[in-house]
Amino acid sequence: MSWLGLSCIFITSLLSGGLAYRIRLKDMYWIRISLGFSGAYLLSVAILHLLPEVFEHEQKSISFFALGGFFIQLVIEYFSKGLEHGHIHDHNHHKGKIYTIMIGIGIHGIIEGLPLSGAGFKHHEAVQNMYAGIILHHIPSAFVLVTMLKNAHFNIKQIVFVLLLTSFAVPLGAILGKTLFQQSLSMYFDYLLAIVAGVFLHLSTTILFEAAEPDHKYRFRKFMAVCIGIAMASLISLL
Ligand SMILES: [Zn+2]
Ligand SMILES: [Zn+2]
Repeated sequence: MSWLGLSCIFITSLLSGGLAYRIRLKDMYWIRISLGFSGAYLLSVAILHLLPEVFEHEQKSISFFALGGFFIQLVIEYFSKGLEHGHIHDHNHHKGKIYTIMIGIGIHGIIEGLPLSGAGFKHHEAVQNMYAGIILHHIPSAFVLVTMLKNAHFNIKQIVFVLLLTSFAVPLGAILGKTLFQQSLSMYFDYLLAIVAGVFLHLSTTILFEAAEPDHKYRFRKFMAVCIGIAMASLISLL
C-alpha cells in the first residue's frame, strides 16, 4: 500500500476544498474543464487497467459484478446528490440532506479505496494509475463540493466535517481493503475490482457528460482537456 499515494489523495482533496472555501469563482468554467480532464482520465483507467484485470478472471459471471458496481454508483448519487463527482447544481440543497450526502460520499470513497492496497492486482501499473485517477478526480470534486455546500449556507463546521469525510474516505477504504482482501477475502478480490470498475465507468461517463456544454458539445478547450486526460492515462499505463 502506498502511504505517499494515500496522503496525496487526502491532502490534495483537503487543499482544493479549503481553496474553494476561501475564494468565490465567477463561474465554474475552469472547474468544468478540469472535471472533463479527470473524467477522461478515470474512464481510461477503467478501460486500460480495471476491465482487463477483471476479464482475466475465468468465471464469466464476474461481468455481473461490474454491472453491479455501475448500479451501486447510481444509488450512491441518489444519496450524495452527485457531490462525490463534482456535480454543479443551480439550486440550493435542502438543509436536512446533510446526513444523506455524507452517507453517499463516505460509501463512494470507501469503495474507491478498497482495492488500493494493491494486494490482488495481477499487473501493478494498474495501482499507480488508479491513485493518479482518484487524485485527479477528487481535486475538482472537492472544490465543487465545498462551493455547493457554501452556496447552500451550511455552516463552517458542517463543511469542514464533510470535506474531511470525503478526503479521508478513500484512505480509510484502502486500509479496510488491506485488512480484508490481503488474507481472508483474497479470493474475492477480482469481484471487488469488477464492482470498482463498474463504479469508475458510471462515475467517469457522468463526469464527461456534465463537463460538456448543456447540449453535449465539447468546445475546443474541453475537447483538449479530454484528449490530454486520455493521453496521460495511456502514457502512464505504458510505464
Ligand atoms: Zn452529476
Ligand atoms: Zn471518488
